[in-house]
Amino acid sequence: MQQDNRVRSEISALGGSSPAPQLAAFLQAGVSLQSAEEHMTASVLVVDAVSRAILLVLHPTLKMWIRPGGHVDPNELPWDAALRELEEETTLQAAFSGDPRTHFVDADTHTVAEPDGRKHVHHDLCFALEVDMRAAAATPADGVSGVAWVLPESLDELVVAENVRRTAKEWLAKSKA
Ligand SMILES: [Zn+2]
Repeated sequence: MQQDNRVRSEISALGGSSPAPQLAAFLQAGVSLQSAEEHMTASVLVVDAVSRAILLVLHPTLKMWIRPGGHVDPNELPWDAALRELEEETTLQAAFSGDPRTHFVDADTHTVAEPDGRKHVHHDLCFALEVDMRAAAATPADGVSGVAWVLPESLDELVVAENVRRTAKEWLAKSKA
């Protein structure tokens, strides 16, 4: 718990002027970042620098396309967790240019259903990562059934998690401006 403190303060600082209220409450509760009912997760919005296609992975039980990502390990910084999960799930190795904090996109709290029907809450921090998709070979690996580069205009044609769709569209609109 004590060891979580650096990670906790780094996460609090990411929220800036508009911290997600549910995330702020979770951080202030003083419980483990992987408590029984609530988990800290991190994900990465991987975007091809040229086509703006987004890398999504197919979750085997949710049957839904989501961002690469997963649970933040004890004492692990969220942006490190995001890149670790990216590599574990897609074999794609990448790094943020400059300070990873500047790549923070969104904090989203949502409920996930486990295969046995139980539910728990994920507090997910998303970081954007631009890559050259021609040089970034991605293949389905640990815990995913598929990977795909999805063009922005095709996001509505797939079963994509709502927060993933929203964040991608917001970020693409902002980065175009
Ligand atoms: Zn979880």
